Amino acid sequence: MNGTPPKISSANARFAGIILAVLAAGIAATVFFFNPALHRFYPVCQFHRLTGLNCPGCGATRALYALLHGQLSTALRDNAVLVGGLLVVAGRGAWFGAKKLRGQDAEFMRPKFIWPLLVVVLVFTVLRNLPACAFLSP
Ligand SMILES: [Zn+2]
Repeated sequence: MNGTPPKISSANARFAGIILAVLAAGIAATVFFFNPALHRFYPVCQFHRLTGLNCPGCGATRALYALLHGQLSTALRDNAVLVGGLLVVAGRGAWFGAKKLRGQDAEFMRPKFIWPLLVVVLVFTVLRNLPACAFLSP
């Protein structure tokens, strides 16, 4: 072991990207056509069911539905961290795609950004369960 992580071949990375894109499109299409407020086949949050508290994902499906139907304020009310996260992923994806199209080396997400993102999600989770920040609850 020399401490260097193994390189992922560009063919494998492209295949994984295609699989993720197809998966994301399938989820988006399902949520777009089947309103989570009206259909019961969506998974129920077990954390919320057991504790009564909101996890960082609570309201995410409803937020995605609202976002896909152009209802930004509803999406932010249902799950603001999902909306922010999707903006970050879209922006980073555009930057990453542009770099790759120019044949430049790029990382989609540097490890140094993971801890700050986890802190944001943790703070969001704590705040949305406080009565003073009930506007962050779905
Ligand atoms: Zn939840």
